[in-house]
Amino acid sequence: MKLFVTGGAGYIGSAFVEEALNAGHEVTVFDNLSEGHRAAVDPRARFVEGCLSQRPAVDAALRAAGAEAVVHFAARALVGESMTDPGKYFGNNVANGLNLLEATTTAGIRKFVFSSTCATFGIPEVMPMTEDLPQRPVNPYGESKLMFETMLRWFREIHGLEFVVFRYFNAAGATKRFGEAHRIETHLIPNVLKVALGQAESCKIFGTDYPTPDGTCVRDYIHVSDLAQAHLLALAPGKAGFYNLGNGDGYSVREVIDTCRAVSGREIKALEEPRRPGDPPRLIADATKAVNELGWQPKFPKLEDIVCSAWEWHVGHPKGYGG
Ligand code: UDP
Repeated sequence: MKLFVTGGAGYIGSAFVEEALNAGHEVTVFDNLSEGHRAAVDPRARFVEGCLSQRPAVDAALRAAGAEAVVHFAARALVGESMTDPGKYFGNNVANGLNLLEATTTAGIRKFVFSSTCATFGIPEVMPMTEDLPQRPVNPYGESKLMFETMLRWFREIHGLEFVVFRYFNAAGATKRFGEAHRIETHLIPNVLKVALGQAESCKIFGTDYPTPDGTCVRDYIHVSDLAQAHLLALAPGKAGFYNLGNGDGYSVREVIDTCRAVSGREIKALEEPRRPGDPPRLIADATKAVNELGWQPKFPKLEDIVCSAWEWHVGHPKGYGG
């Protein structure tokens, strides 16, 4: 298929593009490189540097790609940042996203795959989390993704756009070639591994008084290659709907740090800090629907394997994509 991939120079997008090319798809990446890296775009893909805020540029790129499906990764995706700069989230994820949706339907493209998030659920009362739980986001990031989901429902109703929405839990790990390299790193695993690499003195534990077994937040970490595989399955004819993607296992911040210590074999100093605003205590997926309906089978469900792949990538790319 001819795929138009927004955010294909970013962390999850770059891993998907690699897998999509391996599966025989033809890929055009559209990315403004605000967070992504040119070197993270698989050389077999066509690359267009552009911003979703520029509707004519999006129209032109979609036409040139001859796209049959759009896979939309491009977004701002930091809970903490969204609590200090909500406008960035509604601007990028909602307003710019709407440009893409309009351009997609105008171009007559009928298939859309969207990267959503478990943050659309807020603080769920039921664990693990199925797709039908109430969505009450507690930060502008989750709210902006939920707003995009809402727009998709109406575009399906009115324009017949067929879509698959994936609500990711915590993406982590790396392929052999592509890994996590944010300009300002806020995510847990890369920040902890920086200490193991000797690039930071210590890492931080945000909040030790949560109602969880060891007082730190619990998350469901999922390998970036497993996320990519789910997107490939979503492109099959007739696939549509909302799917949670996680492994169904929760690990606390302290457990993640311990796993990083074990995998790297290095000392990792951790400092206890106050809670980070906007963080729900526990988020664990029930991905049964994706398994049953899409035939999704995660290949790297164990946290140790996920951290191992991230560690190997960071050791091989100590400066990320720079230098
Ligand atoms: N976290 C932490 N120290 C860090 C980064 C994150 O304690 O340096 C915590 C964060 O508060 C959250 C969990 O680790 O409870 C996962 O955070 P991350 O930013 O990796 O992903 P999120 O769950 O926000 O998408």
